[in-house]
Amino acid sequence: MKTLKIAIQKSGRLNEKSVELLKNCGLSFENYKSSLISPVSNFPLEILFLRDDDIPEYVQDGIADLGIVGENVINETEVDVAYLQMLGFGKCSLKLAIPNQCSIKTLSDLNGKSIATSYPVILRKFLEKNFVQADIRTISGSVEISPGLGLSDAICDLVSTGGTLKSNGLTPFADVLHSEAVMIGRKGIENDPLIIELIQRVQSVLRAKETKYVVLNIEEKNLDAIKALLPGIKSPTVVPLAEKGWAAVHTVIPEKDFWSKINELKAAGAQGIVVMPIEKIIL
Ligand code: ATP
Ligand code: MG
Repeated sequence: MKTLKIAIQKSGRLNEKSVELLKNCGLSFENYKSSLISPVSNFPLEILFLRDDDIPEYVQDGIADLGIVGENVINETEVDVAYLQMLGFGKCSLKLAIPNQCSIKTLSDLNGKSIATSYPVILRKFLEKNFVQADIRTISGSVEISPGLGLSDAICDLVSTGGTLKSNGLTPFADVLHSEAVMIGRKGIENDPLIIELIQRVQSVLRAKETKYVVLNIEEKNLDAIKALLPGIKSPTVVPLAEKGWAAVHTVIPEKDFWSKINELKAAGAQGIVVMPIEKIIL
């Protein structure tokens, strides 16, 4: 049987979540920091641990069949790969930022200015689209210190909370790109049965993350009101309690409107509400 290869970040912001996702998909492998390649013992897959910058090209060139990497890196390397699944972690934005109290107010004020970035390809396209002619200074790290050192007038860098910008006296000015981690594949691999199986597992893990399993008790006379509030996967499960006139309702509810839903359930007479995490949801 053929063995697929998936490239993930060796260390850094995406490593831990990528390893966790693959483990939650039921894949068994050792995560030694020293090894570059780790076989999965219960699926025909090998894991390659790489610098994130190298992952898109490895996948494009077929050295790896799959990869997990930020969209920012994919766009910067301009590779031709298939997006198999957005993963919902590693969320960040590539932003233009300027020193606090500087004269730049609109994008056109960047004409003739210099901008430091590690993302020259994405920035060049953004500036072209907005008819701005600026001098792009490519630097590989610590972009946020360059205005303070007099190296550039502005920067274009990845931001998640904005804390790094703030502590360097910079203010976000415009969004260039929103990014999150994505599972990519070599073009043409989308219909491979092993890939379909793996993506199905990934989706069942992601779906479970977005939902909670809820069990509650309700007097039978209030059951219709409760059922109207709960969709469940098909519909809620209702089982009678030993105490006459009472039932237990089992269902799943989305994480995003969790608290408002719990309050509605309580108002409709729900008691003894138990909430549990879900490991997987297979449809
Ligand atoms: P490598 O050693 O693998 O090249 P790196 O230093 O280039 O790692 P990290 O800083 O570990 O990269 O970030 C990896 C990815 O995490 C980024 O490409 C981006 O998609 C995502 N990310 C999420 N939040 C942030 C953030 N605040 N700053 C930078 N990257 C972020
Ligand atoms: Mg990198």
